Amino acid sequence: MTTWVRESLHPDYAQSLRVDEMLYDSETAHQRLKVFQNGTFGRVLTLDDVVQTTEGDNFIYHEMMTHVPILAHGAARRVLIIGGGDGGMAREVLRHATIEHVTMVEIDAGVVDFSKHYLPMLSAGAFDDPRLNLVIDDGAAFIRTTAETFDVIIVDSTDPIGPGEVLFTDTFYGHAKRALNQSGILVTQNGVPFMQGDELTNTMRAFKALFADWSCYLATIPTYAGGPMAFGWGTDGDAGQVSLEQLEARYAAAGIETDYYTPAVHKGAFALPGYVSRLMP
Ligand code: SAM
Repeated sequence: MTTWVRESLHPDYAQSLRVDEMLYDSETAHQRLKVFQNGTFGRVLTLDDVVQTTEGDNFIYHEMMTHVPILAHGAARRVLIIGGGDGGMAREVLRHATIEHVTMVEIDAGVVDFSKHYLPMLSAGAFDDPRLNLVIDDGAAFIRTTAETFDVIIVDSTDPIGPGEVLFTDTFYGHAKRALNQSGILVTQNGVPFMQGDELTNTMRAFKALFADWSCYLATIPTYAGGPMAFGWGTDGDAGQVSLEQLEARYAAAGIETDYYTPAVHKGAFALPGYVSRLMP
């Protein structure tokens, strides 16, 4: 009998993915963790039955949450990742030889341990990179007390339910801003605006109060169902004004090959359709 995993994120809209083989299904201290094989997306990771990442389409999400702030910044050396337990975000950040240090704060050691084993293609060796400092902690607690500062902070969290909820609060954003170096950039996973518009509005309201340059940018990830996903963007620097020519030069100098990110896609991602613009405070 064919079985399907039906996503639990929305009350009246759900995607289902066929389970060709259930590879892992267990509770960690924080959430229900599943990995299964799907014909189209390869290995799929869900937490509490919400798709977190897949072997097939993770490149879009991880490329757009890393190369956009790092190439826009132009001189990033220190990066903080909040969440990101599967290792995909760290993988993409560490492809930049100019990045000297990455701190990754993940609340659930089970996600890291398990991703290393069942989803090694996502981290692709990132967990063994000497530049990576993995901290198992609540990102909200870490950001409240850390003395470290960063050029780019990436919030690669679950949705604002369960352990992820604290990462969508004004308090968290305020502490994140304090941990940014001058001209530093904060980017956040902010859900699919067509389905989760309030989450984006709330984050943008906090960013408007905190940053001179605040907005969001978009990319469509097939398994984040309901349309393009929004990424919150906040900075007091001028990274948002980087020209296409500057990005092309930086991208070429970085010497990385990507399957979604290009400098033109980077610039275009900040062009918001009316229904998203109307969610801005
Ligand atoms: N790409 C996914 C998305 O857009 O929903 C996120 C993937 S990643 C697996 C999400 C990670 O955030 C999980 O490993 C989860 O354990 C972690 N997480 C959730 N709440 C957290 C918190 N308060 N502090 C640190 N990590 C947290």
